[in-house]
Amino acid sequence: HFTPRAILVTGGAGFIGSNFINSFMAGNPGCRLVNLDVLTYAGNLENLKGVENNPSYRFVKGDICDSALVARLLAEERIDAVVHFAAESHVDRSITGPEIFVRTNVLGSQVLLEESRKHWQARVVPEFRFLQVSTDEVYGSLGDTGFFTEETPLAPNSPYSASKAGADLLVRAYHETYGFPTLNTRCSNNYGPYHFPEKLIPLMIHNIMNKKPLPVYGDGLNVRDWLHVKDHSIAIETVLKTGGLGQVYNIGGNNEWRNIDIVNLVCDLLDAKLGRSSGENRQLITFVKDRPGHDRRYAIDASRMRRELSWEPSYTFERGIAETIDWYLANQEWVGTVTSGAYRDYYETMYGGR
Ligand code: NAD
Repeated sequence: HFTPRAILVTGGAGFIGSNFINSFMAGNPGCRLVNLDVLTYAGNLENLKGVENNPSYRFVKGDICDSALVARLLAEERIDAVVHFAAESHVDRSITGPEIFVRTNVLGSQVLLEESRKHWQARVVPEFRFLQVSTDEVYGSLGDTGFFTEETPLAPNSPYSASKAGADLLVRAYHETYGFPTLNTRCSNNYGPYHFPEKLIPLMIHNIMNKKPLPVYGDGLNVRDWLHVKDHSIAIETVLKTGGLGQVYNIGGNNEWRNIDIVNLVCDLLDAKLGRSSGENRQLITFVKDRPGHDRRYAIDASRMRRELSWEPSYTFERGIAETIDWYLANQEWVGTVTSGAYRDYYETMYGGR
């Protein structure tokens, strides 16, 4: 059992990173946590209101590709664990502009690995862990049956998933070549609070509320496996503390949904919550031209997490999706700031000149 004393989280102002920080800091009051995030459009310090005044927390605005900065933080904070979320994460953006995906996801991961390896070899701390947070998309697409296991060959189909696979392979190589203490998680689609409104579930909620069309790719029959972000956060913490070095762990909810069924479900729940007549929101659904290279089905076999690390998801989808909708309804101000750029003004006021 590994007990970290000082963690460097990268990309902690994004959707999953911020949920992880909120949950980890609540459960591990003895651990210092440094959040390194360059604050792209997807990074939002509003997500971290609950920890920003905690003396064990430090935010650093910076780029994971900046090796001097990474080296300095590792040394000065005596970091003994890196939990690496920072990435360009949106598949559609990777289709129109792949270059930044290679820079951040591949090169950025290599810089972090290299500086972490040197820090580990300098033996500044007694024990060290490097945890790479990755995605089931590195495995490519499934037919109607079967599941991705940790042994499934990598076969990414989008520039996003290819860049994540590149990073995962570097993580593997650092373990094989240097004996560097790595861990690699691969998780299915997440949903929950603080999800940027460009992604399926928050986009649908946002558009339904504003009576805008609900764009659904192709025939809507693509299948995804959904996990609540809080369950993902606990899974990452479990792997960090008890995972085997050099190992890969698949994380998933055993919860497959066709896109169109999710959209219908969100429509129906919001009919009731917004006092609209039954079926009204479904009329907003508009099928649009399919995404190029759109993977048909992802499904994760997470039995290794259950078997070896005794982790299980705690949310049912019914509860998770209802709570998520309530969260968006109650946090319209958050949605407004992340979509309007007002958040940038907030940032300048908070951190400008530092
Ligand atoms: P996100 O886009 O919401 O957040 C990414 C964060 O990384 C942002 O805060 C951004 O500012 C930061 N960032 C980007 N480039 C950076 C750089 N060069 N230096 C420092 N910070 C940088 O992403 P997310 O959905 O929270 O995903 C987090 C991680 O989890 C990613 O690695 C992603 O591949 C992985 N993942 C996501 C899902 C999902 O469903 N969202 C599922 C499995 C795995």
